[in-house]
Amino acid sequence: MAGLGPDRLSLNTATLRAQWSLAECIEGCARHGIAGIGPWRDKLQEMGVKEAARAIRTNGLEVSGLCRGGWFTAEGAITQAVVDDNRRAVDEAAEIGAACLVMVVGGLPDGSRDLAHAHALVEEGLAVTLDYAREVGMPVAIEPLHPMYAADRACVNTTRQALDICERLGEGIGVALDVYHVWWDPELAAQITRAGRDRLYAFHICDWLVPTRDLLTDRGMMGDGVIDIPHIRGLVEAAGFTGLNEVEIFSAENWWKRDPDEVLTVMIERAGAC
Ligand code: ZN
Repeated sequence: MAGLGPDRLSLNTATLRAQWSLAECIEGCARHGIAGIGPWRDKLQEMGVKEAARAIRTNGLEVSGLCRGGWFTAEGAITQAVVDDNRRAVDEAAEIGAACLVMVVGGLPDGSRDLAHAHALVEEGLAVTLDYAREVGMPVAIEPLHPMYAADRACVNTTRQALDICERLGEGIGVALDVYHVWWDPELAAQITRAGRDRLYAFHICDWLVPTRDLLTDRGMMGDGVIDIPHIRGLVEAAGFTGLNEVEIFSAENWWKRDPDEVLTVMIERAGAC
C-alpha cells in the first residue's frame, strides 16, 4: 500500500497540545502542507469559534472532526446541562465545517458500579444529541475507547458495541476509529467491514508503545510501537473510508516537549511509511 502524503493527513490538536494554540496549529498545517485539522473544543473556544472558522477557511484546511462531545454519564443523569453542552458542540462542529463531531461518551458516574446504567445513559444522551445533530446535518461519531478507560472516560469500548448503538439509533451516527483504542480487537476486521462507508466517519492514528508508561499521555508516534497501521488503514479504506488520517498523539514526556515544527516533520515522514 502506498504511504500517506501530507495531503492525506490531519493534525489533531492534542498532538501539539502543550506547545501550540489552535491558531498556531492552523498556520503550522498550512506551512507543512497538511490537509486538515482536528481541533479540541478547549483550543477552539480559546481562539473563538468564528475566528477559527475563518482561519481554517483562509488556509484551505479540511476539518476531519471536532473533539469532543459526549461525557453523558458525568452527572449520573442526562441533565439539561449535558444536553445543552452537546448541542453547543454540534453547533461548533457545524460552524467550523467539521466532517463529524467525535463523541467520548463517558464512563461510570462517580461512586457507581452500575455499568448497565452507564450504557443506558450513553444511549439516551446520544439519541437526544442525534436528534439535534440531524437537524443541523452534523454526523455524530462514537469513538470506542480502549477498555482500560471504561470506568473514567468511555463505557463504549469496542467497535461492535458502538455499531450496535448506531444500528439502534439509525442514520447520522457512526464511529471514529482510533488505532490506539481498537488495534487489539480480534473482531476489528469484521466490524470495520460491517461499519462500511456509511458508518466510518473518522480514522485516528498514532502507535502503542511497549511499555506504555501512562495510560493517557504516553502514546507513540507512528512506527515507534506495535500497531500494524497500514493493515488497519487498508481495512478502513477497503470498507470505503475516504477521509483524512488524523494524527492524535498524547505524549507528555516526549512529543509535547519537542519543537512543534520538528514534530510535524517527523509526523509527515512516518506517515509516509504507513
Ligand atoms: Zn482519537
